[in-house]
Amino acid sequence: MTRQSFDAIVIGGGLVGAAIAYGLQRQGLATLLLDEGDIAFRASRGNFGLVWVQSKGLGAPHYQRWTRGSAQEWPKLAAELKERTGIGTGLQQPGGVHLCLSEEEFGKRGEYMARLQREAGNFGLEYRMVRGAEARDMLPGLGPQVVGMSWTPYDGHASPLYLLRALHTGFTGAGGTYQPNARVEGSSAAPNDFSVEAAGQRYRAPRVVLAAGLGNADLAPRFGLEAPVRPERGQILVTERTQTVLPMPTTTIRQTEEGSLMLGDSKEDAGFNLGQSPEVMRKIAQRAVLSFPWIANLNLVRAWSALRVMAPDGLPIYDQSERFPGAFTANCHSGVTLAGTHANRLAPMIAAGALEPGMAPFSARRFNVRSAA
Ligand SMILES: Cc1cc2nc3c(=O)[nH]c(=O)nc-3n(C[C@H](O)[C@H](O)[C@H](O)COP(=O)(O)OP(=O)(O)OC[C@H]3O[C@@H](n4cnc5c(N)ncnc54)[C@H](O)[C@@H]3O)c2cc1C
Repeated sequence: MTRQSFDAIVIGGGLVGAAIAYGLQRQGLATLLLDEGDIAFRASRGNFGLVWVQSKGLGAPHYQRWTRGSAQEWPKLAAELKERTGIGTGLQQPGGVHLCLSEEEFGKRGEYMARLQREAGNFGLEYRMVRGAEARDMLPGLGPQVVGMSWTPYDGHASPLYLLRALHTGFTGAGGTYQPNARVEGSSAAPNDFSVEAAGQRYRAPRVVLAAGLGNADLAPRFGLEAPVRPERGQILVTERTQTVLPMPTTTIRQTEEGSLMLGDSKEDAGFNLGQSPEVMRKIAQRAVLSFPWIANLNLVRAWSALRVMAPDGLPIYDQSERFPGAFTANCHSGVTLAGTHANRLAPMIAAGALEPGMAPFSARRFNVRSAA
């Protein structure tokens, strides 16, 4: 007989749900992971793969710390997944750069990084603004139009698809139950007692985690939560494999383990339209060629668009229901970067039954000025 009662149900099998489900199952909670399937919007299958720190958390030091914490957790998570599943995530953390193609961009970037460092306070933020010959030593093949770059030691990249596969394999390997093609339709909520209907089955658990990406906007109110997320489109281009080695990723260009270059990615307000546009693709390619002129010799072999999961202020939303204790939600636009904290820090909080007080700034109550006051 199909099991119908669990310690926790996670709705959404993308990077966020899979990392949390993996963390919960590893903590010993019998966990069910429900995923809608290929017809859903799935950011986790179309992203760029950066494990990125240096552009995160301006004006939100709690997010800066959370992101950096995740970059620190990543090597542990990658090693553990490799050991448990045999799947390598391709993690490399050689540091990373943001390239500036004009003096104006360089000046603005310098101010941005200085402010980020001030806001980091005692936590600190190591970075350098690098110019000229030094920049060209660090990244051979830089184009003459590159004026300089910001560098931090924390940045890196990984394969998002291998990560997703490793999390799923690690989850089921630890005894978790994964149910694909199972869109949650009906549900009922009471404190520490939830039931959801998916694929003709009804499941119950004292904990439920909403990690359905853009689907959270509809699901959250049913569990006494808010997840006002909207789509933001990003387009990505991929070149053929090349033997030229890019020693570290930049904000918009990274080399996969297999040798392809990924070029990206745009930030567009296009609703739920998953189309691609030649103008945006041209801009992405032009900037890549100005950054590294040798890229012009490579053929493009693939291109796609995907939808980010964006909160109104661009920061993650982590929340717990006051009305229905035991219900949680997790939403973010950096699910690769944050996989480390989702599996190793957030999942243990959910397993313990409550988010730590330090997570309060991530609550969706920040959008509701009266209740936040
Ligand atoms: C172009 C682009 C580039 C990006 N680059 C990076 C990057 O370099 N680094 C980084 O860290 N992040 C990046 N991201 C962001 C990252 O991809 C997302 O943060 C992450 O994928 C979000 O994961 P998720 O699990 O919340 O959402 P999704 O991947 O969208 O998964 C949600 C899942 O929920 C399921 N679902 C929805 N509704 C229901 C329902 N009712 N019942 C059951 N299941 C449901 C869907 O089937 C889906 O699988 C990028 C995103 C885009 C679009």
